[in-house]
Amino acid sequence: MTGPSLGTLGSALGHRRTRRRRVLVMSALPSPRTDRLMPADDALAEAWDTALRLAWEGLTAQTTPVGAVVVDDAGTVIAAGRGRRYEASGPAGQLAGTHIAHAEVNALAQLPAARHWERTYLLTTLEPCAMCHGAAIQSTVAGIYFAGRDPYAGTASLRFDNPQTRRRDFLIDGPLPDTRGALAEIMHIAFLMRRASPHTVGAQAAAMPQLTDYTRQIRDQLYDAISTADYQRAIALASAAPRDDP
Ligand SMILES: [Zn+2]
Repeated sequence: MTGPSLGTLGSALGHRRTRRRRVLVMSALPSPRTDRLMPADDALAEAWDTALRLAWEGLTAQTTPVGAVVVDDAGTVIAAGRGRRYEASGPAGQLAGTHIAHAEVNALAQLPAARHWERTYLLTTLEPCAMCHGAAIQSTVAGIYFAGRDPYAGTASLRFDNPQTRRRDFLIDGPLPDTRGALAEIMHIAFLMRRASPHTVGAQAAAMPQLTDYTRQIRDQLYDAISTADYQRAIALASAAPRDDP
């Protein structure tokens, strides 16, 4: 493996090459192919680690377990945020305590409007909702990579079609096929189960029956890991999770 050191966490997460699946190609006009600008997967290991740790931080804070980072074309994190929907406050300039306090918005809100950000990407631990998908387009980043699927609110297959989105080749790609994707999904599903949200859990179970059933079986262990802030145990639980085919 080449690229930045993954550290013990990256190794534990079993980083390997991401399966690339272009699901959104907007532009019929000549424009730079943004996938040429995308950092190599190995260069994103630390960025994914940061995003997943933010999601875990959200879970331990009993709020939405989603983390997001913006990376430059070398894979360096230039902004980061996490979900804060059920928290009273957050860092200056970030949303908290509102339904729109999503990780992606909190990361993107840190990009100044003084320039455009076409050589940067949003990495998020969960398939983005319509708001965050739109926020990424408005923020001028080149695309979105996500780790885990969200069959309820996810919009990876959504195609915007207006002059703005036809002007450039916006990418959205995911999920990660390895432990990182499973970790993102089981944290999200366990959180939904804890909040007793039957319609959102039902959507996960319909699209990802094996993974949702697995999360139900291990959720007490995961909650125990949450109570003891044992992130490595959560990774171990994710490493044994079955992944359902898309
Ligand atoms: Zn969102």
